[in-house]
This record gives sequence, C-alpha cells and structure tokens, in this order.
Amino acid sequence: TTFVVTCSAVDTEAGRGVLVCFEDVTHMEQAGQMRRDFVANVSHELRSPLTALLGFIETLRGPAKGDAAASERFLGTMQDEAQRMERLVRDLLSLSRVEEQERVRPTDPVDLCRLIGSVRHALTPVAEENGVTLTTDLPETPIIVPGDTDQLQQVITNLTENAIKYGGQGKTVHVSLTTTEQEPLVRGPAAVISVRDDGPGIDPVHIPRLTERFYRVDSHRSRAMGGTGLGLAIVKHIVGRHRGRLRIESRPGEGSDFRVVLPRDHAQQPR
Ligand code: ADP
Repeated sequence: TTFVVTCSAVDTEAGRGVLVCFEDVTHMEQAGQMRRDFVANVSHELRSPLTALLGFIETLRGPAKGDAAASERFLGTMQDEAQRMERLVRDLLSLSRVEEQERVRPTDPVDLCRLIGSVRHALTPVAEENGVTLTTDLPETPIIVPGDTDQLQQVITNLTENAIKYGGQGKTVHVSLTTTEQEPLVRGPAAVISVRDDGPGIDPVHIPRLTERFYRVDSHRSRAMGGTGLGLAIVKHIVGRHRGRLRIESRPGEGSDFRVVLPRDHAQQPR
C-alpha cells in the first residue's frame, strides 16, 4: 500500500494545530505501473520483428545481393515478420477500441447460432491444415443475445483459433451453445458458449493470468504459432462489455474448456 502524507498548520477557534492527511494512492501507483509495463511489452514485441527486418534488408543489400535463391528465402521470412507486426497492431487496435467502449452496453440482437456457424465455416480450413477436427453442437432455434455482432464473432473466433492452435494434431475442438433460464453468474437467463479441446491442457497456476495482456504459458510456442498474447485479453474485455463472464477450466493432459456466459435479457443488471 502506498500513502501520500501531507502536513499543514491550521488555525481554528480552538487554537493552532497541525492537519495530517493520509491519501491512499495504491490504485494510481498500480495503474501507472501497468501502463509502464504495457508500453515496455509493446515496444519489445514490435522491436523483435523490426530488428529482424532491418537485418534481412542489410543482408539483401550486402552479402546476398545477386543470390536469387537466398533473396527469395529472406523475403519469405521478412513477409512472416511483417505479418507478425500487422497482427500485433491489429490486436492492439481491437483492444483499445473495446476498452474505450467498455462503459457502453451493446444492444443489437445477435443470433449466436448463426455466428458460431459462420466461425465454423471460416475456421474449418484452418482446422484441417492443423490436423484438427472442428465440430459444433447448436440448438435448432435461434439464440438471441443483446450485443455487438463483430465483437462476439471475435470472441468465438479467438477461442476457437486458440483451441485449434494449442490443441494439437489429431485432436478435436468442439464448440457448443446452450441456454439456461437462471444462471447465477449473470443473475438471469443466459446463453453459454463452450469451446472445448482435448489437447494438452493448461497448468492451474497459469489459468488466473491467461487474460492478462501478453501473458503466455510458452512464449516461444505462442509466437511460432502466430500468437500476439492479446487474444484472451480482448475476449475478456468484450465479454465484460456484454456483462458476461468468462470461465476457464483446464487440466494438464485433459484438454481445456473456455466458457462464455452471456446474459440474454436486455434489462439484466448483473454485478
Ligand atoms: P496467444 O496469442 O499467445 O495465443 P492468448 O491471449 O490468446 O495469446 O492466449 C494466452 C495463452 O493461453 C497462450 O499463449 C497459450 O499459452 C494459452 N492458451 C490459450 N488457449 C489455450 C488452449 N485452448 N489450450 C492450451 N493453452 C491455451
């Protein structure tokens, strides 16, 4: 805990005295520290692809000049590095957009069955490339929640992409949608999206920190798979903006289940 202490002399009717004020600035300190950490992380994440790009440009203009095969190889790596920077900037923009809008509740009627169907359609080729089977289990009738279509699509996409990426070859990713009439987490009727994989799972020590910006269980693996470390932070903010909850259940060796609980009622006031 950090206090700022100020002392001042005061004159009152009862006589002269000293006024001592203690102000708890712990939250401000923590917010300042978080901002500094964030800037340091972003700089670090941007600097490594930039350094690589500059190195390759130097090589292409120097030792590799005129070597067509080497140039082609270097250009491929440069493209990968530039795409990594592009993904990072895209995720940073998404994160700052949802953080800015956090106090405004989105209210468009969103059909979750359609949304999950279109994410499945978009990600089936990615699953096939990774040797993963992607299945869905959806109710027959539309399930409507008040929300922002693009943002909810991003939530389902990020969770499904993660399950495909980290699940591993030969595994299955299952996305399902159910409803409950009385969900304690949102104090009312809710829709529950579950993205489950039977991959390697996550050690319990990491689970509470997974939604922190740039937190990764294995940085090398995440980067190699094109991860920015911001996917779950974005999910958490979007779910919060919808007054929903994110629940993560996972056990090493037994796969993971990322569940998003969204209120179905406009008037609900959870929390
Ligand atoms: P990244 O861009 O690294 O994927 P995320 O914020 O989406 O960042 O995820 C944070 C970390 O959580 C990942 O780096 C990974 O270690 C872990 N993770 C996320 N989803 C899964 C999953 N389905 N199975 C195992 N680990 C996962």
